[in-house]
Amino acid sequence: METIEIAKDRLLYYQFEGLREIDHIEHLFTSRIGWNDRNTTGQIARLFNMPETSRVGLKQVHGTNIVVIDSYGDDLGRISNLEGDGLITNLPNIILSTGHADCVPIYFVDPGKRIVGIAHGGWRGTYGNITGKMIGRMVDHYGSDIEDIIIGIGPSIGPCCYEVGMDLGNEFKDKFTEFPDILVDRDDRVFLDLWKVNYLQAKEKGIGGENIIVPRICTSCNMDKFHSYRGENGTDGRMIAAIGLRDG
Ligand SMILES: [Zn+2]
Repeated sequence: METIEIAKDRLLYYQFEGLREIDHIEHLFTSRIGWNDRNTTGQIARLFNMPETSRVGLKQVHGTNIVVIDSYGDDLGRISNLEGDGLITNLPNIILSTGHADCVPIYFVDPGKRIVGIAHGGWRGTYGNITGKMIGRMVDHYGSDIEDIIIGIGPSIGPCCYEVGMDLGNEFKDKFTEFPDILVDRDDRVFLDLWKVNYLQAKEKGIGGENIIVPRICTSCNMDKFHSYRGENGTDGRMIAAIGLRDG
């Protein structure tokens, strides 16, 4: 069990066991149960014990732009108007968040240097290697040591359900020639394993497999708990991936 499912105060949410152990980190992944547009910011702020106004989320564009927040002088509202799919900070009391309905939420933590990050990786972000770029920014900007970084790959569409066209499959195969088994052939159909691509991108940057948490929870297989864009033939519902550092 690499994740824990928590049902509390009529909310269902998820945490990685490996990140729960770290005292100064707050994190979660929401579900479709109990969460809605109106209560999400308030409930995350309450669970994290951080101000509601400290939640930051970018305008996600399925790219690989990453925004680093290293000063409170930055207006958080302004940051939330920026386009991008990754956020990193070393400042306490900021809630970094991304929205998901099948796309992969990727959590990044350097427990010693106290750096946290979150990224949104659909096929485009994954193809663009947002995971590798997030790790690169943690190293370049904050001096993270690769061996200290812990990564969590959260609930998202799995290779059980994520059928792709032959063309897209071939693009991944051609770009990531060193990555085995990222495509699964089944009944003359091709399925893409976004979890494995992100896992291998982290490994490629030097992260040890023991520091990459991959619970392999598929949103499309579990639509009683998660919104699934693919599974529902489109949806406005999103789960929120959030992470933040506490004081002290
Ligand atoms: Zn599935």
